[in-house]
Amino acid sequence: MTTIYLKPKKEESLKRFHPWVFSGAIARVVLDAAHKAAAPEEGELVGVRSANDEVLGVGHWQIGSIAVRILAFGVEKLPQDFWNERIRAAYEVREALGLIKGKNDTFRLVHGEGDWLPGLIVDVYADTAVVQAHSIGMHLCREMIAKAIIEEVPQVKNVYYKSDDTLPFKAAIEGKKTGYLLKNEDLRLENDDFWSTENGLKFRIDWLRGQKTGFFVDQRENRALVERYAKGKDVLNMFCYTGGFSLYALRGGAKSVDSVDVSQKAIELVNINVAKNFPEAKNHTAVAADAFEYLSKQKAEGKTYDLIILDPPAFAKHRDAVKNALRGYQRINAKAIEMIRPGGIFFTFSCSQAVDKEAFRLAVFSAAAQVGRKVRILHQLHQPQDHPINIYHPEGEYLKGLVLYVE
Ligand code: SAH
Repeated sequence: MTTIYLKPKKEESLKRFHPWVFSGAIARVVLDAAHKAAAPEEGELVGVRSANDEVLGVGHWQIGSIAVRILAFGVEKLPQDFWNERIRAAYEVREALGLIKGKNDTFRLVHGEGDWLPGLIVDVYADTAVVQAHSIGMHLCREMIAKAIIEEVPQVKNVYYKSDDTLPFKAAIEGKKTGYLLKNEDLRLENDDFWSTENGLKFRIDWLRGQKTGFFVDQRENRALVERYAKGKDVLNMFCYTGGFSLYALRGGAKSVDSVDVSQKAIELVNINVAKNFPEAKNHTAVAADAFEYLSKQKAEGKTYDLIILDPPAFAKHRDAVKNALRGYQRINAKAIEMIRPGGIFFTFSCSQAVDKEAFRLAVFSAAAQVGRKVRILHQLHQPQDHPINIYHPEGEYLKGLVLYVE
């Protein structure tokens, strides 16, 4: 096996179970005798040792600033049943948390570093698991991962692989980046009628054409909080995607719900989901529109709401985009706060990992100050328990939200 030797003192973070080795920490690479190429192959398993030849771990090699993603600490070889053991452990946590029960068959099974599987995301929708590889190493292991999921997760019968948007685009990647890895014989491939249940609400999940793995599993608990506040309210769900927050607001007894997203396809899904869960509902409207334009237009017409949910896509995908992102958050939050009736409630989120809690709060503070409204924080929200954060890897924290009372 190829061995990566670190520079002196660079072993500290690995000893604290942080799973990344940065390329700058590497002193030298010692290829094993059988190695054909002059450098490790992308995705290859490599051993990592300190400058003093201490064994630190084994992980996937990749060209880039994160050179190795550690899969197991303190050993140089993965145990025989590694994939089954890790998937089983991840499943057992979700089960212990009470997430998997009749009213809920939608959950995140593997959250990358938070489940000691850096580079891997797995979401489960009823009997289908959708797997996303963020590293070449995970891509090369996809068949073993699929097999372990089927063996360890009783409800899963199909495994769909969806890594078109998540693998590094420069890498020479062998094999397909999307498609079924394993499937039940009678699975219908058109994929137009798969339903998954979240807290008793039905959602059509389109993992073939939808965003990410097909659904945003990470807002489950925050949607439940919207349900608690929705009674009798006029609600706007901005950036609604498949209408998660809208369905909870309707179940909570909202007077009216407006769902808005720029994607026409998303709006079609919202309408399908509302019709499935509330066939009689006459108080829901879905509009395909740009958020900024929609809010400006509504404001010009004097429209106001009792409850607004604002859940935009990540404005900052990288650290260098943070400044612009913060301006964007301030602008869209100010526009939303302006439209909240006195005594109204505002749910506002950021899923940009590069924007931390304090920076986001400051952007919302600036928005409130800009429009001159009195605002109090009722709840501080975050990602749910099936998106655990490895305490040694704070980079895994990404979703944050505030619930505000606006006077
Ligand atoms: N709240 C959703 C997830 C939102 S993801 C849920 O609970 O599932 C972000 C959404 O913002 C995507 O659906 C995307 O289509 C939409 N979007 C991106 N840019 C937009 C814009 N300028 N105006 C309105 N919607 C936009």
